[in-house]
Amino acid sequence: MHLPSFDNRFLRSLPGDPEPRNFIRQVRAALWSAVAPAPVAAPRLLAHSQEMAAELGFSEADVSSPEFARVFAGNALLPGMQPFASNYGGHQFGHWAGQLGDGRAISLGEAVLADGQRRELQLKGAGPTPYSRSADGRAVLRSSIREFLCSEAMHHLGIPTTRALSLVGTGEGVVRDMFYDGHPEVEPGAIVCRVAPSFLRFGHFELPSQRGDTSLLQALADFCIARDFPHLRGRGEPLYADWFAEVCERTARLVAGWMRVGFVHGVLNTDNMSILGLAIDYGPYGWIDAYDPDWTPNTTDATGRRYRFGWQPRVANWNLGQLARALAPLFTDAAPLQAGLDRFGAAFAAADRDDTARKLGLAECGDADVALLRDLHGLLHAHEVDMTLWFRALADIDPRAPSLAPLEHAFYDAGKRTAGEAGLNDWLARYAARVREDALSVDGRRARMHAANPKFVLRNWLAQEAIDRAHAGDMAGIGELLAVMRRPYEEQPGNERFAGKRPDWAKDRAGCSMLSCSS
Ligand code: AMP
Ligand code: MG
Repeated sequence: MHLPSFDNRFLRSLPGDPEPRNFIRQVRAALWSAVAPAPVAAPRLLAHSQEMAAELGFSEADVSSPEFARVFAGNALLPGMQPFASNYGGHQFGHWAGQLGDGRAISLGEAVLADGQRRELQLKGAGPTPYSRSADGRAVLRSSIREFLCSEAMHHLGIPTTRALSLVGTGEGVVRDMFYDGHPEVEPGAIVCRVAPSFLRFGHFELPSQRGDTSLLQALADFCIARDFPHLRGRGEPLYADWFAEVCERTARLVAGWMRVGFVHGVLNTDNMSILGLAIDYGPYGWIDAYDPDWTPNTTDATGRRYRFGWQPRVANWNLGQLARALAPLFTDAAPLQAGLDRFGAAFAAADRDDTARKLGLAECGDADVALLRDLHGLLHAHEVDMTLWFRALADIDPRAPSLAPLEHAFYDAGKRTAGEAGLNDWLARYAARVREDALSVDGRRARMHAANPKFVLRNWLAQEAIDRAHAGDMAGIGELLAVMRRPYEEQPGNERFAGKRPDWAKDRAGCSMLSCSS
């Protein structure tokens, strides 16, 4: 088997926990604890990402070897791997939660690619760590399938994300009470190997800061800049300021990407915010079917719906505000941090305008176009129209004779469609007039729209179908879905089923419209 070379710079450069034993505790003055994955009964590779395997140098023969399944189940280590769990805190649902840490994620080390780039490999569900608090360190198959598929789907949509190399079944049961309502069940367990240049989160900086450990905070900031932002130059406060501004900008682009494709993260706590601006921690996420800015898939958040679709930009901004507070001890003056937060607003607005132009197929976005899209969103919401289907089919509108005909398949409710007909036709007339005066050619407009409005997204019911099949012993659905999600902007004749709107069975089905943090 190909052996990646490892250079575990995080462990080498930053203080670790001196306690070698694995028990639940508060870990101070250290950013990581050495901990080995707990072996599982019967590792079996259920799916893998060909692109990730290739990037890491694994051949398809390597991937199908029993050793690969053993390594990515946590039953064996490759030479150079040094497993550890990292220490972070976070604000959960708006409140400081103290130390959290990698409760069920165990990093194996930093693989160094041929071009010198780094890829940290991390097993999710590999057993207890000092940060597991009251939980078991394991993950169930349904959640692992969702994390595996969405990591790769997000990447292929062109949105920055942690990746997934492998999905391995453990052959062991895991007990979960899916809706915390006193109905625990034994479910099959699984482990995803996630991959990212860095798994540092906002919460990694918040914890030492909250504890008043400024020297640890500074050591971590210096490390993060050197390893994860090597293009940044300078030193001291100006360097920290540039770094924070870049984190703000990346976060803005990430969230704009989610708003463009209709993704709802579901748990945007600060411990789930990547310092690299990657989508991270795929738990009770969901994809918008009928357009609804107030929708959240996360039942754990059902009352306040803090993490609803339409609030994601402001929540990201709030989270960056927490990061700014955490970094304040590195600054003598708050102005550079405020400048970074302003950068978030500007970068989000710029990305959002760009996406408006692309989604509507316009050469550029003017102020009136922002209003045009806002009005459309109101109509889609009021009349229960599928977001993905609508925008994809909008490219088929004839600007000289606009009509709802190409869009009929995007409606969920005949009554709401009838009620919305006049308003939507008015909107289409406005839109057609705008398109007629735009500089783009017919083909140019269509290509621009198709590159921004995916045909295929990982709809909740599609993932659930793959999960149902997997629970029945048929793992092929996972690979079939991944194959479609690798080319989300292409037409893919024969795969229309995967672009279909939510079937009725999925409307109120657990796993489709209702998910919890129990995973
Ligand atoms: P999440 O809501 O998944 O982002 O997790 C929040 C915190 O709970 C993190 O510190 C996780 O590592 C931890 N956690 C979640 N599930 C488990 C589990 N099954 N075992 C141990 N820790 C967990
Ligand atoms: Mg998390």
